[in-house]
Amino acid sequence: MKAANRIAKIPPYLFAEIDKKMAEAVARGVDIISLGIGDPDRPTPGHIIEALNREARVADNHRYPAYEGSARFREAVATYYRGRFGVELDPDREVMALIGSKEGLAHIIWAFVDPGDYALIPDPAYPVYKTHTLLAGGIPYLMPLRKENGFLPDFDAVPKDVIARAKIVFLNYPNNPTAAVADLDFFQKAVDFCREHRLLLCHDNAYAEMTYDGYVAPSVLEVPGAKEVAVEFYSLSKPFNMTGWRIGAAVGNAEAVEALGIIKTNTDSGQFTAIQHAGVEALENNPKAFFEEMNLVYARRRDIAVEGLSSVGLEVEKPRGTFYLWVPVPRLYSAAEFTALLLDQAGVVVAPGTGYGEYGEGYIRIALTVEEDRLKEAMDRIARQVKL
Ligand SMILES: *Cc1c(COP(=O)(O)O)cnc(C)c1O
Repeated sequence: MKAANRIAKIPPYLFAEIDKKMAEAVARGVDIISLGIGDPDRPTPGHIIEALNREARVADNHRYPAYEGSARFREAVATYYRGRFGVELDPDREVMALIGSKEGLAHIIWAFVDPGDYALIPDPAYPVYKTHTLLAGGIPYLMPLRKENGFLPDFDAVPKDVIARAKIVFLNYPNNPTAAVADLDFFQKAVDFCREHRLLLCHDNAYAEMTYDGYVAPSVLEVPGAKEVAVEFYSLSKPFNMTGWRIGAAVGNAEAVEALGIIKTNTDSGQFTAIQHAGVEALENNPKAFFEEMNLVYARRRDIAVEGLSSVGLEVEKPRGTFYLWVPVPRLYSAAEFTALLLDQAGVVVAPGTGYGEYGEGYIRIALTVEEDRLKEAMDRIARQVKL
């Protein structure tokens, strides 16, 4: 047996490796604190679980779901976007249910990238954009996210010949892994760039609801005319503590949504309708109050971690979005070395910046996904390892 060549192009999934090392340490009896994976530690709100219970008993929901998502779910997403972002969406043509936004981010590439086409992808970034570009035979053109640019890509730095062969641009703000945010001016620039060069703009808005200190994250679709070039990926996973449920949506440009639908109908058969309807409950039943509650939890954790790190000279800015800290590693170490040191010597799992791309060198990512006492313990353990 020999797997396809395209498999050999794909580096091992970052967290699969970290999980393996972590499992080995746990087996050795080490008390591990995991700040590695971006997976909320608190449970899904009870009213959403109850909605699933109810919907699971509805016999109609036991059949194949509508591939584009149930009308109720698509309408709920459109209504939510109007209230939250002031964005009008046609639920029939401009909204599609996803089996988690990761699924849509992967499949949109198959809908737009032919072999030899470029995809403009930030570096560091959520790995899916790059891996699926490679799987589809496309060429990732990596746009460095540098601290001095606020971790925003510089579109003017993309070579003309690359732009000429490009099809698609990925952005993600609030950003994983750098925790940077972008304002509407930046999104306007991105829309202008994509309109000028006839590119599809894919905005991954997985962290739209996870913001702090009064900051409210925009949708790229708030830019006037953005729908001509943009599609946005919205996820219920992180803000509702629903990562295991697999529910999200692609919204925006109708042609992009339709093309994505062609890949999806030929690949999956949609998400269980009962889960979509539990998603409707999440979106309709006072989500803002829940986000405020969770964001207070994360903001307190953020402050604890930032203080702990700063006290030993690891200078990290307080992020206004996501539930990550993007922490510069001490000068003596690479990202991988510092990650290994923390796991082996401190029993703390973090993600090496290089897991998100070469421009992640010099950083680790800390996820604020443990309760305060464990987070304090993790910071104490990290502090003991940091000799500056
Ligand atoms: C977690 C995450 C996703 C995936 O979310 P799902 O909706 O659970 O698939 C997408 N993009 C980014 C940047 C993420 O961090």
